[in-house]
Amino acid sequence: MSSSNAYENAMQQFDAAVKILGLNSDQQAMIKDPRKVIQLMLPVRMDDGSIKVFQAYRVQHSIARGPAKGGIRFHQDVTLDEVKALAFWMTMKCSVVNVPFGGGKGGVIVDPKQLSMNELERLSRRYIADLIEDIGPDRDVPAPDVNTNPQVMAWMMDTYSMHHRQHLPAVITGKPLEVCGSEGRGAATAQGVVFTLEEATKALNMKLQGATVAIQGFGNAGSHAARLLAPKGIKLVAISDVSGAYYCESGIDIEGALSWVKDHKGVLSGFEKSGNVRKLDNPMELLELPVDVLIPAALENQITEKNASRVKAKVIAEAANGPCTPEADKILNEKGVFMIPDILCNAGGVTVSYFEWVQNRMGFYWPEEQVNRELDRIMRQAFKDVFSASQKHRIPMRIAAFVVAIERLKKTSELRGLYA
Ligand code: GLU
Repeated sequence: MSSSNAYENAMQQFDAAVKILGLNSDQQAMIKDPRKVIQLMLPVRMDDGSIKVFQAYRVQHSIARGPAKGGIRFHQDVTLDEVKALAFWMTMKCSVVNVPFGGGKGGVIVDPKQLSMNELERLSRRYIADLIEDIGPDRDVPAPDVNTNPQVMAWMMDTYSMHHRQHLPAVITGKPLEVCGSEGRGAATAQGVVFTLEEATKALNMKLQGATVAIQGFGNAGSHAARLLAPKGIKLVAISDVSGAYYCESGIDIEGALSWVKDHKGVLSGFEKSGNVRKLDNPMELLELPVDVLIPAALENQITEKNASRVKAKVIAEAANGPCTPEADKILNEKGVFMIPDILCNAGGVTVSYFEWVQNRMGFYWPEEQVNRELDRIMRQAFKDVFSASQKHRIPMRIAAFVVAIERLKKTSELRGLYA
């Protein structure tokens, strides 16, 4: 059965890896389901004096390997199942890169573009105020995700710290540098995508230099990926965001696109007016372009059984969480597309979140070179672990990533045993 339900898709991925590992039902029970699911209704004062109530969630999927860890998403299409899937993927992601965190995720059903800055601040603060007992540097450490940013993290950190009458920056990561953030955190997800992509091209005997690339999504992950890939000599032929998809066969001027977005309220709208860029009639065409590397850097369920057979990329680097469904995976596998799965490919973000948390607890801050050196080491090691699992068991990279993650979780849970 095909499904656009991210949680059902995530459970299918879990089951496929469990089969390879031969886990019994007790072992599965210790890993599979979320430990805590919190549902909130947040009353927020609007600028016109009225009160609006927003539905919100925080899911703590696992606290086995460390505190729950994962971003907070502000989006009108957030659902509980989506947040549960994203929390599960965070557990797997932290385990793949072997950082000492569990997994969690938060979501608020809201289109933040409809809110003023003051309304956004009140919503962000109320979300943390209502979770005050559930989060904490050793409990659950949130971070940015779709439509949340360092400013939102600063408000959230402030709310938590003021409530406790203590300076507690380690409660949340992805903060601005001036609020105890880490060097390199903004570009970290994209930096991790580049490191794993370099490893993949090495493994495939392919050259990154001169490779054609299409990127879906021009937010934190997509725009930084474009910027970091430019000096590697790639040819970026297509980019997209909520305003549409833009194509230029001879290569998009990456600096031009970045400054366009800066000058146009964060969107690419109107970018077809620059150079010989063409706006695609249907933005989904971007996924089917004849490119070497496709980087989905937007939302879930973009490549499905409907369009997977038309994907022409040799490599897919999943900067987004859950962009390919299990049905799409099957088709892409048969076509021989090399997949760098999300829980490996985009784990650079949470890895630098871990460094930020470490720095907050030490009260000692690292230079950017140190952050990137440590990130480089962790990401390349994770790629090697997943690639060798994929070769050892003769399984696709995605299942291999889950195998690596679940094996580590299984060992931890065996050693810790069952409380009470
Ligand atoms: N939201 C990011 C992710 O999906 C980062 C999470 C974090 O840093 O905790 O991986």
